Amino acid sequence: MISVEEALERILAQIQPLEVTTVPLAQSQGLVLAEDIVAQEDMPPFANSAMDGYALLSKDSKAREGLPPRLRVTGGVAAGYVAEHAVEEGTAMRIMTGAPVPPGADSVIQVELTRSQGPESEWVEILQEVAPGNNIRPAGEDMRRGQQVLARGTEIGPWEIGVLATLGRANVPVIRRPRVSILGTGDEVIEVDEALRPGKIRNSNSYLLEAAVRKAGAEPRRLGVARDTVESLREKFSVAVQSDLIITSGGVSVGDFDLVKDIMREQGEINFWRINLRPGKPVAFGHIGGVPLLGLPGNPVSAAVTFELLGRPVIRKMLGHSRLLRPQIDVIVEDGVSEVVSRRHYVRARVELRDGRFVARTTGNQGSNITTSLLNANAFIVVPEGGVAIHPGDTAKAIMLDWPEV
Ligand code: AMP
Ligand code: MG
Repeated sequence: MISVEEALERILAQIQPLEVTTVPLAQSQGLVLAEDIVAQEDMPPFANSAMDGYALLSKDSKAREGLPPRLRVTGGVAAGYVAEHAVEEGTAMRIMTGAPVPPGADSVIQVELTRSQGPESEWVEILQEVAPGNNIRPAGEDMRRGQQVLARGTEIGPWEIGVLATLGRANVPVIRRPRVSILGTGDEVIEVDEALRPGKIRNSNSYLLEAAVRKAGAEPRRLGVARDTVESLREKFSVAVQSDLIITSGGVSVGDFDLVKDIMREQGEINFWRINLRPGKPVAFGHIGGVPLLGLPGNPVSAAVTFELLGRPVIRKMLGHSRLLRPQIDVIVEDGVSEVVSRRHYVRARVELRDGRFVARTTGNQGSNITTSLLNANAFIVVPEGGVAIHPGDTAKAIMLDWPEV
């Protein structure tokens, strides 16, 4: 049985970032930039005013014999327009924030530091001396033409989108989203809108995984549930291979009906099929028809945990991310982990910051069928292999599921 680290290493060695595509700017959020972005223009494109006020020659702002200078107002310039004439000595122009500085003017004084007869006033008194460049945002102050502004490999978030919009990038080169097929298995598994019958349970895994796949940034495709027959699995896999990744749940253990491995052997190859962890020992990885297949356990909690540990990093690598793994921090385990198991144990827990320290509480019964142990969890406490006991108040590592990857 291999360790979680070895499993992850073996999986990621088989995964490459997908191809470059172009998407409309508004759809680029969460994707990874596939090219360096170089400014094609100066930003701002023209020198403009940082304040509502008056554009003037700074030397005209000097007080004369202790009196504020009075300048003739020759017009105004609003944001979005250009001045029709220059500012000359002894004159000023009203100017709004973002409006281009008129020729001749070398500074702007904010309206609060002036006195006039209102918006139509033909004169303005300057109550404070200003230096050249005062309240002027020079062209290219933010970005210079030719400057690399964003690097390839950057994850695009709201702030990057803002910069791309500033630069006029209506379409953005990105790594495309992986399409992920999700397949349930098992004769006992029925659809969520069906009434329960004796022996049957509802297909929770496919829905859970669909949501987790989408949250990881991929495009999920739910293919329903294969019966526990080779024929049914073959039929489902013939559709599933038209994707970038196949994720199954169930059918990878050692029971008579655990046929996913058989199909992998028949149509591809198995890289490994067991990992030394709990919950989720029966995880298979390999290929089918050239498409990577991650066979997760059937128990819902095992499927959820192994997806977080293995599936999410795979999707992130396909998306071109360089940060693949959630951060691990030290936490104080308030209630301890009483169950001692020999495998590496990932215990669902709620971590909170209390008085400057991260404190964890486990979410109760940790059975791999107890789906409610996932509710409220934002972390996995990592209990090392070898039967380690965590007593109340002990410190342990926790993987933070709601912190961004590092
Ligand atoms: P298996 O690995 O196929 O033996 O499944 C292990 C356990 O997970 C069994 O109790 C199954 O009934 C359950 N299980 C399998 N698939 C699903 C599913 N899609 N949704 C909920 N439970 C499942
Ligand atoms: Mg099964």
